[in-house]
Parts: sequence; C-alpha cells; structure tokens
Amino acid sequence: AFAHHGLHWRYVNMEVPKNSLAAAVAGARAMGFQGFNCSLPHKVSVIEHLDGLGQSAEVMGAVNCVVKRGDKFIGENTDGKGFLRSLSSVVDPAGKSVVVLGAGGAARAVAVEMGLAGLRKITIVNRSASRGETLAHLLKNKLHLEAEFVAGNGDYTVPRNTDIVINATSIGLYQPEAAPALNFASLQPNMVVADVVFSPTHTLFLKNAEARGCQTVDGLGMLVNQGAIAIQYWTGIEPDTDIMNKALRQALGL
Ligand code: NDP
Repeated sequence: AFAHHGLHWRYVNMEVPKNSLAAAVAGARAMGFQGFNCSLPHKVSVIEHLDGLGQSAEVMGAVNCVVKRGDKFIGENTDGKGFLRSLSSVVDPAGKSVVVLGAGGAARAVAVEMGLAGLRKITIVNRSASRGETLAHLLKNKLHLEAEFVAGNGDYTVPRNTDIVINATSIGLYQPEAAPALNFASLQPNMVVADVVFSPTHTLFLKNAEARGCQTVDGLGMLVNQGAIAIQYWTGIEPDTDIMNKALRQALGL
C-alpha cells in the first residue's frame, strides 16, 4: 500500500520483550513514529504507556494499533473494525441476531465492534465459562446489549432466528481438517457465516456453511481491513485494499 500510494513510509517488525515495553513506547515517541501495531503479549499492558484510547479500545481494554495524534499516542483497536468492514460487504449487523463462537481477544474485538454497530442480540458460545461469562457481562454492562453466554460443551445448535454466525476461536488455524463443534445442520441458507481464521482461507467451518447454502466471509478480509484502517489512521490516506489483498495472498502463497 505504501509503494502503491507513493508514500515514503516504512513498516518495521520488531520484537519487544515483556519488560521492555515502556522503553519501546518511549523510543517510538523519541524517534517520531507516527504509530505502531502491537500484538500479544502487549495488547493490554501497552495501555498504561499511552495518552488515551479510542472508543472500542476503551470498551475492550485492548489495543492493537497506536496512533500519534498531535503530540499524543492514542490506542485503537482495528481488529474488530477490520472484521466489521469485511462483514459489511455482505451484511449490515445493525438489528441482527448474532452468535459468536469464542471469547478470546478476537471474539472480544468482533463482539464489541458489532455491538457498537447496533446488533440486536448476541450469544457468546465458549469452552471456558469464565472467559465466556466475562465477555457477555462486558457486552451487557458496557454496551447495554442483550447478551448471553452458552457453554460450548458439545455440538452447538444455532437458533433458527440467528442472522450471523462467527467463528472467533482459533480452531481451524493452520488445521484444514478442524472446525469448531457445531451442529452444522442447524445452519439455514439465510444466515451469513464468517470466520476470523485466515489460514487456510477456505476453512472447514466455511466449507460446511457453504454446503448448507449460507453466504460466507473469510478471515482474509478482516486481516486486510485491520491493516488498511491502521494505515488510514497513521497516514490519513485510505489505502487500496485490492492491492493489499493481492500482496497478502502473494505472501501467504495463495
Ligand atoms: P485467544 O487465545 O485469545 O482465544 C482463543 C479462543 O479459541 C478462545 O475462545 C478459546 O476457548 C477457543 N479455543 C481454542 N482452542 C479450542 C478448542 N480446542 N476447543 C474449544 N475452544 C477452543 O486467541 P485470539 O482470540 O487472539 O485469536 C483467535 C483466532 O483469531 C486466531 O486463529 C487468530 O489467528 C485469529 N485472528 C484473526 C485476525 C484476522 O485479521 N483475520 C485478527 C486477530 C485474530 P477458551 O476460552 O475455552 O480457551
């Protein structure tokens, strides 16, 4: 995207040990960085080193993208926004009933962003009750959503009135033969089914949903769009996502 838009910018990967985070953020400030992404294990702990948070990052309590605005470093979260942008090419979640499988970082980002976009009802299905309940509480208390937790201890049957079903677990990542435990026969052709897993792109979860006649959204769109939104925050330019998608496919050997 930088090359395509003639931007004289660089995106550099750096490994920062846990106990060097404060120094790394101070270094980014000192060296005039326009921002940076951060990944595990820094998504939560970076917050104490920043000057403020965007709305969804504040609700989630997690940051994956830091943006210099004026002389301040502001924490944003572009994972959920990237997912929403990708999903919105197929369906607008406003007023919809949604099932999210998973309650980790990706699930939290996706659920909060869709909550801010005005969904009607959300069901969190997760293996561990503590994480699932925590996310459902957060959605109820901070976003005042109709949210419930269901223990994922077997094949989950998707309620008939569901509009959107999302796999936000890590099941299927680098495992073409694995899919989350779901009663796939309960999927109806009018449901939109999305996966956050991006490798393989065409997951078994999505294949099973397609076999039921559902429209599907893969995790590659989320990955491209979270990056595109970050570039937009940093540079002010809306990058061409087709170019980014092409580069990503090339990098993944697709
Ligand atoms: P976390 O480790 O925070 O959460 C993992 C989730 O998967 C938890 O809900 C966990 O349940 C569940 N899970 C994992 N293994 C199993 C299993 N065997 N059976 C049942 N449940 C399981 O990971 P993240 O949320 O950070 O990432 C999840 C996925 O999202 C990854 O595949 C990641 O690559 C993808 N991702 C994609 C992005 C994109 O741009 N496309 C961006 C960010 C993430 P439990 O709580 O019970 O452990």
